[in-house]
Amino acid sequence: MSLPIVRTVADLRAQVGAWRAEGRRVGFVPTMGALHEGHLSLLRLAGQQADRVVASVFVNPTQFGPNEDFEAYPRDEARDAALLEEVGCALLYAPAVAEMYPSGASTTVTVAGVSEPLDGAARPGHFAGVATVVTKLLLQCGPHLAVFGKKDYQQLQVIRRLVRDLDIPVEILAGPIVRAEDGLALSSRNAYLSPAEREAAPALSRTLAHVAERLHAGASAEAAEAEAVAALKAAGFARIDYVEVRGAEDLARLGPGPVSAPARVLGAAVLGRTRLIDNLAV
Ligand code: AMP
Repeated sequence: MSLPIVRTVADLRAQVGAWRAEGRRVGFVPTMGALHEGHLSLLRLAGQQADRVVASVFVNPTQFGPNEDFEAYPRDEARDAALLEEVGCALLYAPAVAEMYPSGASTTVTVAGVSEPLDGAARPGHFAGVATVVTKLLLQCGPHLAVFGKKDYQQLQVIRRLVRDLDIPVEILAGPIVRAEDGLALSSRNAYLSPAEREAAPALSRTLAHVAERLHAGASAEAAEAEAVAALKAAGFARIDYVEVRGAEDLARLGPGPVSAPARVLGAAVLGRTRLIDNLAV
């Protein structure tokens, strides 16, 4: 039996409503498709906590900037559906853009504070697009729980904030970052890397790990960040958007001086034409 696919809010609600009426616990994993082991780990985590797991695949145009890769973003629904079925997913929600944004749609969710630095500064409008589509997906699906990856750490904090602020009745779970053997965080965008770029790419995770070590040794955030930017340039990254140590929850600037509170080091840099992001607990 192949995985059922629904494409409308009405059909999604009918299925989830039927499961809820049977007393089933429903988990939800939103994605943009081109699924890899990172996504599948979230589906397995959802499956441990829920009786029925819904995945969505929607490449959300509103979270891409005008010069970003919306058109080029990899899409392969048949492959995604086969992988979802293998990990025990019960339903795929794959709406068209017109279902998600009917003409005349004019409401946007913006999350102040946590969405402003880092990727918020580097990708204007990105988190408004993310916050709006995730709010809609959660309200459309109405799951008991939803799982997001720490790979997109700032996104996770933005979603936690909006769920609290808007009283959306869902539990948010976070999955650990799944990495290749050489440390590169798995990402659908890794498919853009040339063989030479793929070899250089693990420098990002190595550099963030080095920042964490330097902080443990008592270095200031400023010094460790500056060393990291130099290391990424030396490794061949064309543009470094940021390497910053921030408070683990509010992503506020720490310091000056040695870091004592729970912190996260986050980095974003461009290799060839591919923008990579990663982060690590400090
Ligand atoms: P995306 O399809 O890139 O929008 O990602 C969908 C979900 O998968 C998000 O919650 C991501 O944080 C998560 N995700 C993507 N890559 C990874 C990874 N390597 N490890 C864990 N979660 C991931």
